Amino acid sequence: MTPERVANAVAAQRTLVQRLLDEVARVAADPPGITRDAFGAGENAAQAVIAETARAIGLETRTDAACNLHMRWPGADPAARRLALGSHLDSVVQGGNFDGAAGVIGALAAVSALRSLGLRPRAEVLVLALRCEEAVWFGLGLVGSRAALGQLPRDALARRRLGTERTLAEHMRDCGGDPEAVAAGAVLIDPAALAGFVELHIEQAPQLIEAGAPIAVCTGIPGNIRHPRIRILGEDAHVGLPRRFRRDAALAGADLALALDALWAEEEAAGRPMACTIGRFHTLAERHALTVVPGSFELSLDLRAWEAGRLAALEERLHAIVREVEARRGVAIRLGERNSGAVGPCDAAVQAGLADAAAGLGIAQHPLPSPASHDAANFAAAGVPTGMLLVRNRNGSHNPREAMETEDLMAAVAVLALWLADAAT
Ligand SMILES: [Zn+2]
Repeated sequence: MTPERVANAVAAQRTLVQRLLDEVARVAADPPGITRDAFGAGENAAQAVIAETARAIGLETRTDAACNLHMRWPGADPAARRLALGSHLDSVVQGGNFDGAAGVIGALAAVSALRSLGLRPRAEVLVLALRCEEAVWFGLGLVGSRAALGQLPRDALARRRLGTERTLAEHMRDCGGDPEAVAAGAVLIDPAALAGFVELHIEQAPQLIEAGAPIAVCTGIPGNIRHPRIRILGEDAHVGLPRRFRRDAALAGADLALALDALWAEEEAAGRPMACTIGRFHTLAERHALTVVPGSFELSLDLRAWEAGRLAALEERLHAIVREVEARRGVAIRLGERNSGAVGPCDAAVQAGLADAAAGLGIAQHPLPSPASHDAANFAAAGVPTGMLLVRNRNGSHNPREAMETEDLMAAVAVLALWLADAAT
């Protein structure tokens, strides 16, 4: 399959791509953004749009026990290991249209282009629209891919959803799923039967804008350790209390934050990439006051790194910092619930294949590590040779100002299609 033929076939998909981008925005409009609520009306509506289009281009569709949408292009050799493409359809509340959906639509367009050329894959090609990637809904991200691989934590089905207060199990059943099978750890997509998984996704930082390239072949996906609710317990006291008697939880929170930021600066200087985010950081509204030394403080923490060993080392440092701050400030720090996401190394051969495809098409690409966690990391951690294509996008994501040009998405679709034409035959 020559790059020219693939490029032309992909260019012919542009109307379809634009229609789907517009349609998944329309069904979830929530000005000023879009809301595709996970296991709810928004995600369901987008999944229906995608499934209908998949059937129209000749794919077989079904949903699994976790309500992930599978779109199959059967291969000539049923014994050959399958190739999977895809991403997620949910968004944050009043988010942007492209985080997730662009990857599902892009994968579908790549398959549609190759089908239009009469290509018959040897191995089955599976396009996936995965459920509930965003952590905002149930306080746990990557739900669809975790469940698909039989790795959803046991307690996850009892988590309650933002906005409804109903459990994940209830939402899953309402959407036609089988939470009992998911709870039993059923493997819905056998990783050993996959020859590869490639996810296309918008970049969530401005590095491609800075580099002036439309796409990146991703070099790795970070793993994370998350504590959604860290509580610092000191003692409420009168503002006149001398410093040596204080057990000030707010200053302990400040110490913790600054120590973590210093750790980040140190790691960065040593050439070891990581990121640390404290998204929530506050005294308690019902207790705090101008004249009270704060005895309680809360924060959230997301620590991420691109190597499993580094992530484990960072967690040890976190615990050491916690002990130091406790001793210095006379407080107790309860880290509370801990969630983690696996580090997702990108497969060298998949990276090389995608880079070769871009070169063959004359499309500039700029290799980058992904700033964000993705479903692809779960496939990588399960041993599937995994890759990602990141698409240039202005203004980050998780906000209505996401700005991906359809032209850049089409460049990524062309690379994905050319890689797939080679990998699937
Ligand atoms: Zn996403």
